[in-house]
Amino acid sequence: MLRVAVVGSGPSGCYTAQGLIQQDSSAYVDVLDRLPCPYGLVRYGVAPDHEKIKSLQNSLRTVLEHERVRFLGGIQVGGPGGLPAGRLRELYHAVVYCVGAATDRHLGIPGEALPGSWSATEFVSWYSAHPDAVDGDFLRGAKSAVVVGVGNVAVDVARMLARGAAELSPTDMPEAALAALADSQVTEIHMVGRRGPSQARFTTKELRELGTLPGTEVVVDPDELALDPAYADPSALTGAQRRNVEVLRGWASTPRQGSARQIRLRFFLRPVEVLADGGRVGAVRFERTLPDGRGGVTGTGRCEDIEAQLMLRSVGYRGVPPAGLPFDAGTGTVPHQEGRVLRDGAIVPGEYVAGWIKRGPTGVIGTNRPCAKETVTSLLADAPVLVRRQVPKDALPLLRAEGFDPIEWAGWQAIERAEAQLGASLGRSVVKLPDWGSLRAAAREAAS
Ligand code: NAP
Repeated sequence: MLRVAVVGSGPSGCYTAQGLIQQDSSAYVDVLDRLPCPYGLVRYGVAPDHEKIKSLQNSLRTVLEHERVRFLGGIQVGGPGGLPAGRLRELYHAVVYCVGAATDRHLGIPGEALPGSWSATEFVSWYSAHPDAVDGDFLRGAKSAVVVGVGNVAVDVARMLARGAAELSPTDMPEAALAALADSQVTEIHMVGRRGPSQARFTTKELRELGTLPGTEVVVDPDELALDPAYADPSALTGAQRRNVEVLRGWASTPRQGSARQIRLRFFLRPVEVLADGGRVGAVRFERTLPDGRGGVTGTGRCEDIEAQLMLRSVGYRGVPPAGLPFDAGTGTVPHQEGRVLRDGAIVPGEYVAGWIKRGPTGVIGTNRPCAKETVTSLLADAPVLVRRQVPKDALPLLRAEGFDPIEWAGWQAIERAEAQLGASLGRSVVKLPDWGSLRAAAREAAS
């Protein structure tokens, strides 16, 4: 029997577990997660109004409910009070780290720490009911918001800022976030890229959706688009880039409708300073950039201030070093060869990575499938050697004896029931429990 621990129950962890059980009938997999709830960014990152993507949970569920897979929530690997990585290694033939990219990148500009300046991930965590989220009173006094970055996360947060109560209340968003967004006074949302429209990272489907929001119009300045050489001559663009430019071109040529809310898509502006007003964010100063002909931009020294009381930086996630593993601070990933962890260039037997901690925070959910497959192939090739080491028949009693109290599948199902009950009591469908206390209390129901 091959006993494997997968750390992280997001898409990469679930696809890894799935590959292992499908390809090796002797494999038993424990999927550990520091949270009481499974599914990682599918639960805590995919925007609440993207029900179709969220429904991916149903296919991840079938993996975690497989008879040779066990979900063990509420177990932190490493850190104070956590399960030491070395001990985890003793308990299983192999450990696969699928821990994602747990933090975000900073801009490194003056004023970035002012009240009213947040990372997009903090905002996403709040409306997604992540139990570690802070209620930052994000929308306090805000009429105008600046979102720095033009990737899919930027599109998500811009869209959530533009959605009204009628569109948000059918989602599973927590009550406090729903009430705050429903009361929002934000009418101007500026989404700003430092390079040109052809280099934006958002996907066309997500971009187009911005044009479908009730009561909101998308505003694009044709002169700004024209700064991009690809605007006049799109022949060198990839299909995806061309489609993005076409959508933007359509908006740029549409007469203004005077809608209640505007999403303004801006390009060739790089943030240089967050300006204070009364001790909080009052505006963001950008320097106009121009294409340098090599895919990058150069500054012009000319600046433009965009008034805003809320700034969300949406400039990418970043991996944090997993306890006990080597880490490349430059890329925010664990060095690896086809998923096998490399320590000083040499393979570490029995330790593997998959997902964002392996390849960096890029790609859509489906990108994790081939990524996990590569790691599973490496692990199963190593399995004949790995299984020579004696490991406990079942790690769970040992974990319990060592003071860990994992939330098993029945505990998670009790959380799901509690969220359905909460929704019903509020006249909504499912409503997520937003804090550790209520999640743990709901999970305990299953044990009692
Ligand atoms: P991303 O796609 O890497 O986009 C980051 C954006 O931030 C880029 O526009 C980048 O511009 C900009 N940026 C980086 N550093 C900057 C700086 N110092 N100043 C100004 N701008 C800066 O990251 P993401 O949006 O966080 O998305 C992460 C991954 O999740 C992506 O693969 C994304 O597709 C995926 N995702 C998918 C969905 C979906 O499918 N619906 C939803 C959310 C996220 P440059 O290009 O100039 O560096």
